[in-house]
Amino acid sequence: MIKASAYTFKILRYDARAPEGKPCFATYRINVIPGLTVLAVLLRIRDELDGTLGFRSSCRSAVCGSCAMVINGKIDLACRTQVASFNSDTIVLEPLPNMEVIRDLVVDLTPFWAMVEKIQPYLIRKSPDPEKEILQSEAERLRFDQYVNCILCACCYGACPVLARDPDYLGPAAAAKLERFVLDSRDERPASALAIVDDEKGVWGCDTVFRCIDACPKDVRPTDAIVGLRQKIVKHRLGKWLGRGKNET
Ligand code: SF4
Repeated sequence: MIKASAYTFKILRYDARAPEGKPCFATYRINVIPGLTVLAVLLRIRDELDGTLGFRSSCRSAVCGSCAMVINGKIDLACRTQVASFNSDTIVLEPLPNMEVIRDLVVDLTPFWAMVEKIQPYLIRKSPDPEKEILQSEAERLRFDQYVNCILCACCYGACPVLARDPDYLGPAAAAKLERFVLDSRDERPASALAIVDDEKGVWGCDTVFRCIDACPKDVRPTDAIVGLRQKIVKHRLGKWLGRGKNET
C-alpha cells in the first residue's frame, strides 16, 4: 500500500476586488502520496477544503503553461512539480512576480501578452503566397528549434529582474518569440523591423543574468535570443553605415 505523508501548504491569498484586503497566507494540511504534483494538490484543496482558492490550470502536462507560480521560492509549473521533490513538508505557493495579482495565484497577464503582440509573432512575407506549403530543409528548421518549445507560460517574465524595476521592458519571452521568427527561413521581415526592440526597453535593456533561462520549464534560452537579436541589429546598423560611407566617397 502506498503511504501518504502529511504536508502543509501555505498559499498567498489576495483578492484585488476587495481593496481593503491585504495579501496573507492561508494554511492547508493535506496528505499526499508520492508522485502527486503541486497542481494535483491545488485541485484537491479547491475541491475538498476551500472552493474559493484561485489558480489557473488546464492541460496538467506542461503544455498549456497556465499553472506557472512560485513554488518554495522557485518559479515553475505546478503540474510538473512533484510535492515529494522538496526536502520539506511545507510547500509555500505564491503568484508569479512582475504582474498584478487578480486573485490568489492568478495574475494579470495583460502586459506579458502586450509584449508578445508587439513583436508581431507570425510569419511576415513579402513574396506572394505560394500555391503549396513553403518548403523548409531540416537544417533551416533546426535553426529555431529551441524557440518552438516556448509555451508562453510567463515563467521567464516573472523571473526577469529588469521587469521588476521597469514594467515597460520587452521581457524574455517576447524576445525569444521574435528570434524564433527572424531565424525562420520562411519569414521575410526586413532587418529594419528589429527597430521595435532596438532600445533600452528592448534587447539592450537585458541584464544578461540568465534568470529567464533558469526559470524556463521548456529549456528555452531567451538570453540567447536577446544576444542573437542584438547581433543582427548591430550587423544591420553596420551595413547601413558602410553603405552610407560608400555613397559619400
Ligand atoms: Fe515559458 Fe520558457 Fe517560453 Fe519563457 S521562454 S514563456 S519560461 S516556455
